Amino acid sequence: MDFKFTAEEESFRREVKGWLKEAIPPRWRELPTGFWQETEESWKISRQFQKNLGLKGWLAPAYPVELGGAGLSHIKRLILAEELTYHDAPVSIETEITVNWVGMALQHFGSEQQKQDFIPRIAKGDIIFCLGYSEPNAGSDLASLQTRAVEQGDNYVINGQKIWCSYAHYADYCWLGAVTDPDAGKHRNMSMFVVDMKNPGITIRPLINVIGCHSFNEVFFDDVRTPKDSLVGVKNNGWFQLAMALDFERSGVQTAAANKLLLDHMVNYAKANKRGGKLLSKDPILRNMIAEMAIEIEVARMLCYRIAWIYSKGGHSNYESSQAMIFGSELLRRISDAGMRVLGQYGQLAYGSQRAVERAAMCRSYLASLSIGVGGGTNEIQRNIIAMRGLGLPRKEQVRVIFLIPGGYYHGFSF
Ligand SMILES: Cc1cc2nc3c(=O)[nH]c(=O)nc-3n(C[C@H](O)[C@H](O)[C@H](O)COP(=O)(O)OP(=O)(O)OC[C@H]3O[C@@H](n4cnc5c(N)ncnc54)[C@H](O)[C@@H]3O)c2cc1C
Repeated sequence: MDFKFTAEEESFRREVKGWLKEAIPPRWRELPTGFWQETEESWKISRQFQKNLGLKGWLAPAYPVELGGAGLSHIKRLILAEELTYHDAPVSIETEITVNWVGMALQHFGSEQQKQDFIPRIAKGDIIFCLGYSEPNAGSDLASLQTRAVEQGDNYVINGQKIWCSYAHYADYCWLGAVTDPDAGKHRNMSMFVVDMKNPGITIRPLINVIGCHSFNEVFFDDVRTPKDSLVGVKNNGWFQLAMALDFERSGVQTAAANKLLLDHMVNYAKANKRGGKLLSKDPILRNMIAEMAIEIEVARMLCYRIAWIYSKGGHSNYESSQAMIFGSELLRRISDAGMRVLGQYGQLAYGSQRAVERAAMCRSYLASLSIGVGGGTNEIQRNIIAMRGLGLPRKEQVRVIFLIPGGYYHGFSF
């Protein structure tokens, strides 16, 4: 077996690395970056950087050219994402939400008009989406969501509450799941909408995350009117559209690349610092631990490469995405935990402290890693998915749904 990238792909990786040397503003290197943007300044830099990526065709590299993308392969998309994260470029989760989760789902399920309206603007970095999935009583059991969308004349009228909506306070649109047929059973009663966040009746309340940063929000919908043509795809088929968007969400290579960057920080620190008069890098227990994690990073990367390969063959990654999410997120927890032990008390210093190492990246990652295996569905839910869809293990009531997507059959659903 030959897992090598082609010469052209290697050359693309070199091009990306070369471009990044010039493209990342020096000020970015002084700010607390990594997981979540923390300041207005870093947000502005990040938005500008994404527009620059858009100008180059690299914000949505695998989108078709006619929709504003660069028409690159999914393997090149992976290479780009890997290098952007590893080099700590000014990209963040909101880019992922908009470009790789919602944008991809809209290309599958949106009408021609919706594609023309949204995809080119996404590819240029002109608009941002948030995800309106979770509710106070519908997280893991997302199919229990209660937000209602009722037809009234030319509109749907939306009422309900969403929670944990990342970056809703910046978003132009919400990719929203709402019940459109309350009499139908779970999984057959909801539809997906693209709702303009400027609509009257939307209230956004901040929720501060574990790092102390405003990334989450509660979003309230009170008699929000949205035109009928903001419904995406088939009415009452929203569950499957949402599930496919979740598959995209779980399939990125970013966590694997972030793990590699953190391990490099740890290695550099161990090479340069002593404890008890002895270089940390000479400690045999630490060396073994670092070597073990280096192997695991390669496994995490391979799981993600496989997903890019599936997409490059016109397929769709489903339980494979869950595998990558579990492995990458749990590895992030292990690496961050090990990193905090290697750094000792320096690890606890926050950004801004003179003696904080690498702008307190390890500490931020340690805190953030708790949530990385929760967003997009907890790792327990991912294990359920692998058991059911990957291994065919039964649930009490089984319905199997097969439906067609461009390029192949998507037959992931047993519920
Ligand atoms: C960083 C981050 C970003 C997020 N961004 C968004 C966003 O933009 N938009 C959005 O809508 N939501 C977002 N979320 C919310 C996220 O989707 C939910 O937190 C997640 O689905 C879990 O739901 P819950 O918090 O209600 O936990 P619960 O569903 O109440 O789960 C509690 C615990 O019970 C376990 N559990 C529940 N059911 C089962 C089961 N059947 N089998 C085994 N274990 C089970 C869970 O694994 C978990 O450990 C985000 C969350 C995080 C952490």
